[in-house]
Amino acid sequence: MGQPIRTCVGCRQRGPAADLLRLVWDGRASQVRWDEARRQPGRGAWLHRRAGCWQAAVKRGGIARTLRRRLQAEDLDELRALAEAWPVG
Ligand SMILES: [Zn+2]
Repeated sequence: MGQPIRTCVGCRQRGPAADLLRLVWDGRASQVRWDEARRQPGRGAWLHRRAGCWQAAVKRGGIARTLRRRLQAEDLDELRALAEAWPVG
């Protein structure tokens, strides 16, 4: 079946989109947020539901690069809060 394949911005491994979480830049709110339904418009960054992938993505700037945003300190704080509110399901 044509299951979409995405690359995790943390570990750079590819996997089915269903196994990855999606982050999008919300231009209206001017912030990064989880796209829990994985179908919001705009550029998305995909991540495994693993703390290691998350940390690698933040440390290497993978999220900022993928979303084409220069993330400020407050954005990173926000991302950290998002990581703590890791969506389930
Ligand atoms: Zn990963």
